[in-house]
Amino acid sequence: MECRTTYDFEKQAQKVYTIAKFKHFQDELTAGTTYCEIMNSREGGYVTEYDIREDIMIGEHKKRMMFVVSFRRQECDVKCSCNLFEFKGLLCRHVLKVFIRNDVLLIPDKYILRRWRKDMSRCHSNLKVNYCSWCATEDDKRFQRMSHEFTKVTNIATTDDVFCNYVIGRLDTLSTELSAMRLSNEVEQSTSKIIDCEASTS
Ligand SMILES: [Zn+2]
Repeated sequence: MECRTTYDFEKQAQKVYTIAKFKHFQDELTAGTTYCEIMNSREGGYVTEYDIREDIMIGEHKKRMMFVVSFRRQECDVKCSCNLFEFKGLLCRHVLKVFIRNDVLLIPDKYILRRWRKDMSRCHSNLKVNYCSWCATEDDKRFQRMSHEFTKVTNIATTDDVFCNYVIGRLDTLSTELSAMRLSNEVEQSTSKIIDCEASTS
């Protein structure tokens, strides 16, 4: 599918998104450049708020609606009152309008969800090939098995702060437990070596 504009982030979207998601992205971008207007902006500390007016056609009737985009330039954090990203995992027309205004050339990585990426589906098929392949080492196989499970978890939790914090908290506990297990294993192994040595010298 061809790009409709010359904005770099459209090229980026074409490269990273699946075809269906890229089409959705293009529709948002076109609507942003065609039907959305920045009416007002307020600077406040680190955050700038933009009032965006959108012309929405409902049948024959034109309706004007207002949305507010908060933009934190330093971290390139962005949030829109329409909540499209929270619901669909895609940046909305209003945010794209603000990106254009602020010369944000590329979509920050954090706003490109893994589940809409082309390389994710490719990664899944690689995974199967590697996993089944006779040349994969035991470490590779274990790594692939775990990555597969992690991907399932991150795909579920990635759009929700509470879920995300829960996953991180659980992983943190898991990592502490694993370190403790590894340590006690090492102690056990070195103790048995000492016992072996003592047995062979006596
Ligand atoms: Zn929006």
